[in-house]
Amino acid sequence: MTGAAPEVEEVVICGSGPAGLTAALYAARANLRPIVYEGMEPGGQLTTTTDVENFPGFPEGIMGPELMEKMKAQVQRFGARLEMDEIETVDCSQWPYRYTTSMGHEGVTKTLIVATGASARYLGLENELRLRGYGVSACATCDGFFFRGQDVVVIGGGDSAAEEATFLTRFATNVHLLVRRDQLRASKIMAKRVLDNDKITIHWNTEMTDVLGEKEVEGVALLNNKTQETSTLDVTGVFLAIGHTPNSKPFVQWLDHDDAGYLVTGADSASTNVPGVFACGDVQDTVYRQAITAAGSGCMAALEAERWLEAQED
Ligand code: NAP
Repeated sequence: MTGAAPEVEEVVICGSGPAGLTAALYAARANLRPIVYEGMEPGGQLTTTTDVENFPGFPEGIMGPELMEKMKAQVQRFGARLEMDEIETVDCSQWPYRYTTSMGHEGVTKTLIVATGASARYLGLENELRLRGYGVSACATCDGFFFRGQDVVVIGGGDSAAEEATFLTRFATNVHLLVRRDQLRASKIMAKRVLDNDKITIHWNTEMTDVLGEKEVEGVALLNNKTQETSTLDVTGVFLAIGHTPNSKPFVQWLDHDDAGYLVTGADSASTNVPGVFACGDVQDTVYRQAITAAGSGCMAALEAERWLEAQED
Protein backbone atom coordinates (compact mmCIF):
# COMPACT_ATOMS: atom_id res chain seq x y z
CA MET A 1 0.00 0.00 0.00
CA THR A 2 1.26 3.47 -0.80
CA GLY A 3 0.48 6.85 0.77
CA ALA A 4 -0.21 7.84 4.36
CA ALA A 5 -1.75 5.37 6.80
CA PRO A 6 -5.51 5.97 7.14
CA GLU A 7 -6.66 8.19 9.98
CA VAL A 8 -7.90 6.20 12.96
CA GLU A 9 -11.60 6.92 13.45
CA GLU A 10 -13.15 7.15 16.89
CA VAL A 11 -16.53 5.65 15.93
CA VAL A 12 -17.63 3.87 12.78
CA ILE A 13 -21.30 2.98 12.45
CA CYS A 14 -22.59 0.39 10.00
CA GLY A 15 -26.21 0.94 9.03
CA SER A 16 -28.50 3.95 8.74
CA GLY A 17 -31.84 2.80 10.12
CA PRO A 18 -33.19 4.16 13.43
CA ALA A 19 -30.48 2.31 15.40
CA GLY A 20 -27.53 3.52 13.32
CA LEU A 21 -28.74 7.09 13.03
CA THR A 22 -29.56 7.39 16.72
CA ALA A 23 -26.10 6.04 17.54
CA ALA A 24 -24.70 8.64 15.11
CA LEU A 25 -26.69 11.43 16.75
CA TYR A 26 -25.31 10.66 20.20
CA ALA A 27 -21.77 10.03 18.96
CA ALA A 28 -21.78 13.25 16.91
CA ARG A 29 -23.04 15.28 19.86
CA ALA A 30 -20.20 13.79 21.91
CA ASN A 31 -17.75 15.24 19.33
CA LEU A 32 -16.69 11.81 18.12
CA ARG A 33 -17.27 12.69 14.43
CA PRO A 34 -18.78 9.30 13.56
CA ILE A 35 -18.77 7.93 10.02
CA VAL A 36 -22.01 6.19 9.10
CA TYR A 37 -21.86 3.65 6.31
CA GLU A 38 -25.42 3.78 5.09
CA GLY A 39 -25.51 0.27 3.66
CA MET A 40 -27.51 -1.26 0.83
CA GLU A 41 -30.84 0.12 2.04
CA PRO A 42 -30.19 3.67 3.32
CA GLY A 43 -32.71 4.45 6.04
CA GLY A 44 -33.38 0.76 6.66
CA GLN A 45 -36.67 -1.09 6.75
CA LEU A 46 -38.76 2.01 7.47
CA THR A 47 -38.08 3.23 3.96
CA THR A 48 -40.19 0.35 2.67
CA THR A 49 -43.25 1.23 4.77
CA THR A 50 -45.76 4.01 4.30
CA ASP A 51 -47.44 5.54 7.38
CA VAL A 52 -45.68 5.17 10.71
CA GLU A 53 -48.09 5.88 13.55
CA ASN A 54 -46.28 4.34 16.50
CA PHE A 55 -43.17 6.51 16.61
CA PRO A 56 -43.65 9.01 19.44
CA GLY A 57 -43.69 12.68 18.55
CA PHE A 58 -45.76 12.52 15.39
CA PRO A 59 -49.40 12.75 16.46
CA GLU A 60 -50.63 12.69 12.86
CA GLY A 61 -48.23 9.87 11.89
CA ILE A 62 -45.38 10.22 9.43
CA MET A 63 -44.32 8.42 6.26
CA GLY A 64 -41.44 5.98 6.90
CA PRO A 65 -39.09 7.52 4.30
CA GLU A 66 -39.79 11.03 5.63
CA LEU A 67 -39.01 9.96 9.20
CA MET A 68 -35.68 8.59 8.05
CA GLU A 69 -34.90 11.78 6.08
CA LYS A 70 -35.53 13.79 9.25
CA MET A 71 -33.26 11.54 11.31
CA LYS A 72 -30.57 11.87 8.65
CA ALA A 73 -30.84 15.67 8.58
CA GLN A 74 -30.62 15.72 12.37
CA VAL A 75 -27.38 13.71 12.51
CA GLN A 76 -25.81 15.74 9.70
CA ARG A 77 -26.55 18.91 11.65
CA PHE A 78 -24.18 17.65 14.34
CA GLY A 79 -21.43 16.68 11.94
CA ALA A 80 -21.91 12.94 11.42
CA ARG A 81 -20.40 11.90 8.09
CA LEU A 82 -22.72 9.76 5.99
CA GLU A 83 -21.20 7.56 3.32
CA MET A 84 -23.19 5.78 0.63
CA ASP A 85 -21.12 2.67 1.02
CA GLU A 86 -21.14 -0.43 3.19
CA ILE A 87 -18.68 -2.36 5.26
CA GLU A 88 -17.69 -5.56 3.56
CA THR A 89 -15.04 -7.01 5.85
CA VAL A 90 -13.77 -6.29 9.35
CA ASP A 91 -10.63 -7.46 11.07
CA CYS A 92 -10.96 -7.53 14.83
CA SER A 93 -7.75 -9.50 15.38
CA GLN A 94 -5.91 -6.32 16.37
CA TRP A 95 -7.02 -3.02 17.90
CA PRO A 96 -7.73 -0.49 16.43
CA TYR A 97 -9.87 -2.52 14.06
CA ARG A 98 -9.47 -2.51 10.30
CA TYR A 99 -12.29 -2.67 7.80
CA THR A 100 -12.90 -2.47 4.08
CA THR A 101 -15.96 -1.18 2.27
CA SER A 102 -17.62 -2.38 -0.90
CA MET A 103 -16.30 0.71 -2.70
CA GLY A 104 -12.75 -0.24 -1.81
CA HIS A 105 -12.10 2.11 1.12
CA GLU A 106 -9.80 0.76 3.82
CA GLY A 107 -10.29 2.24 7.27
CA VAL A 108 -9.23 1.86 10.86
CA THR A 109 -11.42 2.55 13.87
CA LYS A 110 -11.25 2.45 17.64
CA THR A 111 -14.91 1.50 18.03
CA LEU A 112 -17.44 -0.09 15.74
CA ILE A 113 -21.21 0.05 16.10
CA VAL A 114 -23.05 -2.60 14.11
CA ALA A 115 -26.56 -1.45 13.24
CA THR A 116 -27.09 -3.31 10.01
CA GLY A 117 -30.62 -4.47 10.84
CA ALA A 118 -32.48 -7.47 9.59
CA SER A 119 -34.38 -7.98 6.42
CA ALA A 120 -37.87 -9.42 6.52
CA ARG A 121 -38.12 -12.35 4.18
CA TYR A 122 -40.48 -12.07 1.26
CA LEU A 123 -41.53 -14.85 -1.08
CA GLY A 124 -40.06 -12.95 -4.01
CA LEU A 125 -43.21 -12.77 -6.18
CA GLU A 126 -43.14 -9.81 -8.57
CA ASN A 127 -46.49 -8.34 -7.49
CA GLU A 128 -45.78 -8.98 -3.82
CA LEU A 129 -42.67 -6.78 -4.03
CA ARG A 130 -44.40 -4.16 -6.22
CA LEU A 131 -47.24 -3.74 -3.69
CA ARG A 132 -44.99 -3.49 -0.62
CA GLY A 133 -46.39 -0.59 1.41
CA TYR A 134 -49.66 -0.74 -0.55
CA GLY A 135 -51.25 -3.61 1.28
CA VAL A 136 -48.24 -5.93 1.47
CA SER A 137 -46.39 -5.68 4.77
CA ALA A 138 -44.01 -7.67 6.93
CA CYS A 139 -45.02 -5.95 10.17
CA ALA A 140 -48.49 -6.33 11.66
CA THR A 141 -47.58 -4.15 14.63
CA CYS A 142 -46.75 -1.31 12.24
CA ASP A 143 -49.54 -1.67 9.71
CA GLY A 144 -52.34 -3.73 11.27
CA PHE A 145 -54.27 -0.65 12.31
CA PHE A 146 -54.91 0.28 8.68
CA PHE A 147 -56.96 -2.88 8.09
CA ARG A 148 -59.85 -2.20 10.43
CA GLY A 149 -62.95 -4.04 9.22
CA GLN A 150 -61.10 -5.65 6.30
CA ASP A 151 -59.96 -9.17 5.40
CA VAL A 152 -56.25 -10.03 5.39
CA VAL A 153 -53.92 -12.99 4.88
CA VAL A 154 -50.91 -13.87 6.99
CA ILE A 155 -48.27 -16.18 5.51
CA GLY A 156 -46.22 -18.43 7.75
CA GLY A 157 -46.63 -21.01 10.47
CA GLY A 158 -44.12 -19.96 13.12
CA ASP A 159 -44.45 -17.87 16.27
CA SER A 160 -44.31 -14.64 14.28
CA ALA A 161 -47.18 -15.72 12.04
CA ALA A 162 -49.20 -16.86 15.05
CA GLU A 163 -48.51 -13.62 16.89
CA GLU A 164 -49.27 -11.42 13.87
CA ALA A 165 -52.45 -13.31 12.99
CA THR A 166 -53.70 -13.03 16.57
CA PHE A 167 -52.78 -9.33 16.72
CA LEU A 168 -54.53 -8.62 13.43
CA THR A 169 -57.84 -9.98 14.72
CA ARG A 170 -58.07 -6.77 16.78
CA PHE A 171 -58.61 -4.87 13.56
CA ALA A 172 -59.44 -7.18 10.67
CA THR A 173 -62.80 -8.87 10.25
CA ASN A 174 -61.26 -12.11 8.99
CA VAL A 175 -57.66 -13.26 9.15
CA HIS A 176 -56.64 -16.07 6.79
CA LEU A 177 -53.48 -17.87 7.83
CA LEU A 178 -51.68 -19.58 4.94
CA VAL A 179 -49.54 -22.47 6.15
CA ARG A 180 -47.44 -24.37 3.61
CA ARG A 181 -47.45 -27.63 5.53
CA ASP A 182 -50.17 -29.47 7.46
CA GLN A 183 -48.88 -28.26 10.81
CA LEU A 184 -47.69 -25.13 12.56
CA ARG A 185 -44.11 -24.57 13.61
CA ALA A 186 -45.29 -22.18 16.32
CA SER A 187 -44.97 -23.05 20.01
CA LYS A 188 -47.94 -24.89 21.52
CA ILE A 189 -49.28 -21.90 23.42
CA MET A 190 -49.13 -19.57 20.41
CA ALA A 191 -50.62 -22.23 18.14
CA LYS A 192 -53.50 -22.78 20.57
CA ARG A 193 -54.29 -19.07 20.52
CA VAL A 194 -54.59 -19.22 16.75
CA LEU A 195 -56.62 -22.43 16.69
CA ASP A 196 -59.03 -21.10 19.33
CA ASN A 197 -59.61 -17.76 17.61
CA ASP A 198 -62.87 -17.67 15.61
CA LYS A 199 -61.63 -14.81 13.46
CA ILE A 200 -58.68 -16.84 12.13
CA THR A 201 -59.15 -19.38 9.34
CA ILE A 202 -56.18 -21.64 8.73
CA HIS A 203 -55.57 -22.79 5.16
CA TRP A 204 -53.32 -25.85 5.45
CA ASN A 205 -50.92 -26.90 2.69
CA THR A 206 -51.52 -23.57 1.04
CA GLU A 207 -49.10 -21.30 -0.79
CA MET A 208 -49.64 -17.80 -2.09
CA THR A 209 -48.73 -17.75 -5.80
CA ASP A 210 -49.62 -14.15 -6.67
CA VAL A 211 -50.86 -10.87 -5.22
CA LEU A 212 -53.70 -9.29 -7.17
CA GLY A 213 -54.41 -5.57 -7.59
CA GLU A 214 -53.10 -2.66 -9.63
CA LYS A 215 -52.36 0.09 -7.09
CA GLU A 216 -53.36 -1.68 -3.89
CA VAL A 217 -53.88 -5.26 -2.83
CA GLU A 218 -57.28 -6.59 -3.90
CA GLY A 219 -56.73 -10.32 -3.45
CA VAL A 220 -54.34 -13.23 -3.55
CA ALA A 221 -53.99 -16.33 -5.71
CA LEU A 222 -53.55 -19.60 -3.84
CA LEU A 223 -52.35 -23.11 -4.53
CA ASN A 224 -53.14 -26.10 -2.38
CA ASN A 225 -49.86 -28.01 -2.70
CA LYS A 226 -51.52 -31.31 -1.77
CA THR A 227 -54.48 -31.28 -4.15
CA GLN A 228 -52.93 -28.83 -6.69
CA GLU A 229 -56.23 -26.95 -6.52
CA THR A 230 -55.96 -23.22 -7.26
CA SER A 231 -58.20 -20.48 -5.89
CA THR A 232 -58.34 -16.78 -5.10
CA LEU A 233 -59.21 -14.94 -1.92
CA ASP A 234 -60.48 -11.34 -1.71
CA VAL A 235 -58.28 -9.56 0.82
CA THR A 236 -56.82 -6.06 1.10
CA GLY A 237 -53.83 -6.93 3.27
CA VAL A 238 -50.99 -9.45 2.91
CA PHE A 239 -48.70 -9.95 5.90
CA LEU A 240 -45.50 -11.91 5.45
CA ALA A 241 -44.31 -13.69 8.59
CA ILE A 242 -41.85 -16.18 7.17
CA GLY A 243 -38.90 -14.97 9.22
CA HIS A 244 -36.17 -12.36 9.11
CA THR A 245 -32.53 -12.55 8.11
CA PRO A 246 -30.13 -10.51 10.24
CA ASN A 247 -27.60 -8.59 8.15
CA SER A 248 -24.64 -9.80 10.16
CA LYS A 249 -22.52 -11.58 7.57
CA PRO A 250 -19.35 -9.42 7.71
CA PHE A 251 -19.27 -9.67 11.50
CA VAL A 252 -20.10 -13.26 12.41
CA GLN A 253 -16.49 -14.34 12.08
CA TRP A 254 -15.67 -12.17 15.12
CA LEU A 255 -18.86 -11.62 17.04
CA ASP A 256 -20.89 -14.09 19.06
CA HIS A 257 -24.16 -14.86 17.31
CA ASP A 258 -27.03 -17.32 17.51
CA ASP A 259 -27.81 -20.05 14.98
CA ALA A 260 -29.84 -17.65 12.84
CA GLY A 261 -26.98 -15.11 12.74
CA TYR A 262 -28.38 -12.57 15.26
CA LEU A 263 -25.51 -10.93 17.14
CA VAL A 264 -25.43 -11.55 20.87
CA THR A 265 -25.11 -8.53 23.16
CA GLY A 266 -24.59 -8.36 26.91
CA ALA A 267 -27.54 -8.12 29.29
CA ASP A 268 -28.91 -4.55 29.31
CA SER A 269 -26.03 -3.54 27.07
CA ALA A 270 -25.00 -3.11 23.45
CA SER A 271 -21.59 -4.67 24.06
CA THR A 272 -20.46 -7.70 22.10
CA ASN A 273 -17.74 -10.21 22.94
CA VAL A 274 -15.17 -7.97 21.21
CA PRO A 275 -14.12 -4.92 23.29
CA GLY A 276 -15.07 -1.67 21.55
CA VAL A 277 -17.52 -3.35 19.20
CA PHE A 278 -21.21 -2.76 19.90
CA ALA A 279 -24.40 -3.96 18.25
CA CYS A 280 -27.82 -2.38 18.27
CA GLY A 281 -31.18 -2.56 16.52
CA ASP A 282 -32.63 -5.49 14.65
CA VAL A 283 -29.31 -7.23 13.95
CA GLN A 284 -29.33 -8.24 17.63
CA ASP A 285 -33.08 -8.15 18.41
CA THR A 286 -35.29 -11.19 17.92
CA VAL A 287 -38.02 -9.92 20.21
CA TYR A 288 -39.15 -6.31 19.76
CA ARG A 289 -37.98 -5.25 16.27
CA GLN A 290 -39.55 -1.79 16.48
CA ALA A 291 -38.15 1.52 15.20
CA ILE A 292 -38.34 2.99 18.67
CA THR A 293 -36.57 0.07 20.36
CA ALA A 294 -33.91 0.14 17.63
CA ALA A 295 -33.41 3.86 18.24
CA GLY A 296 -33.15 3.24 21.99
CA SER A 297 -30.54 0.55 21.55
CA GLY A 298 -28.62 2.83 19.13
CA CYS A 299 -28.45 5.40 21.91
CA MET A 300 -27.13 2.73 24.29
CA ALA A 301 -24.45 1.68 21.80
CA ALA A 302 -23.19 5.25 21.33
CA LEU A 303 -23.10 5.99 25.06
CA GLU A 304 -21.26 2.75 25.69
CA ALA A 305 -18.79 3.46 22.87
CA GLU A 306 -18.14 6.93 24.29
CA ARG A 307 -17.51 5.54 27.78
CA TRP A 308 -15.34 2.76 26.42
CA LEU A 309 -13.18 5.28 24.53
CA GLU A 310 -12.84 7.38 27.66
CA ALA A 311 -11.72 4.32 29.62
CA GLN A 312 -8.96 3.60 27.05
CA GLU A 313 -7.49 7.04 27.73
CA ASP A 314 -7.27 6.52 31.49
P1 NAP B 1 -39.66 -19.29 12.02
O1 NAP B 1 -39.84 -19.91 13.36
O2 NAP B 1 -38.45 -19.61 11.22
O3 NAP B 1 -40.96 -19.69 11.18
C1 NAP B 1 -41.07 -19.32 9.85
C2 NAP B 1 -42.38 -19.87 9.32
O4 NAP B 1 -42.54 -19.43 7.98
C3 NAP B 1 -42.42 -21.41 9.31
O5 NAP B 1 -43.71 -21.85 9.62
C4 NAP B 1 -42.08 -21.71 7.85
O6 NAP B 1 -42.70 -22.89 7.38
C5 NAP B 1 -42.71 -20.55 7.14
N1 NAP B 1 -42.03 -20.28 5.88
C6 NAP B 1 -40.70 -20.08 5.67
N2 NAP B 1 -40.46 -19.84 4.36
C7 NAP B 1 -41.67 -19.93 3.75
C8 NAP B 1 -42.09 -19.81 2.40
N3 NAP B 1 -41.21 -19.55 1.42
N4 NAP B 1 -43.41 -19.95 2.12
C9 NAP B 1 -44.30 -20.20 3.10
N5 NAP B 1 -43.99 -20.34 4.40
C10 NAP B 1 -42.67 -20.20 4.72
O7 NAP B 1 -39.69 -17.67 12.07
P2 NAP B 1 -40.51 -16.72 13.07
O8 NAP B 1 -41.89 -17.18 13.24
O9 NAP B 1 -40.25 -15.33 12.55
O10 NAP B 1 -39.75 -16.87 14.43
C11 NAP B 1 -38.34 -16.62 14.53
C12 NAP B 1 -37.87 -16.85 15.97
O11 NAP B 1 -38.42 -15.85 16.82
C13 NAP B 1 -38.36 -18.19 16.52
O12 NAP B 1 -37.37 -18.69 17.38
C14 NAP B 1 -39.60 -17.83 17.32
O13 NAP B 1 -39.89 -18.74 18.36
C15 NAP B 1 -39.22 -16.45 17.84
N6 NAP B 1 -40.44 -15.64 18.09
C16 NAP B 1 -40.98 -15.67 19.33
C17 NAP B 1 -42.13 -14.95 19.61
C18 NAP B 1 -42.71 -14.98 20.97
O14 NAP B 1 -42.34 -15.85 21.73
N7 NAP B 1 -43.57 -14.07 21.32
C19 NAP B 1 -42.74 -14.21 18.59
C20 NAP B 1 -42.18 -14.22 17.33
C21 NAP B 1 -41.02 -14.94 17.08
P3 NAP B 1 -42.19 -24.33 7.85
O15 NAP B 1 -42.73 -24.52 9.23
O16 NAP B 1 -42.84 -25.23 6.84
O17 NAP B 1 -40.70 -24.31 7.77
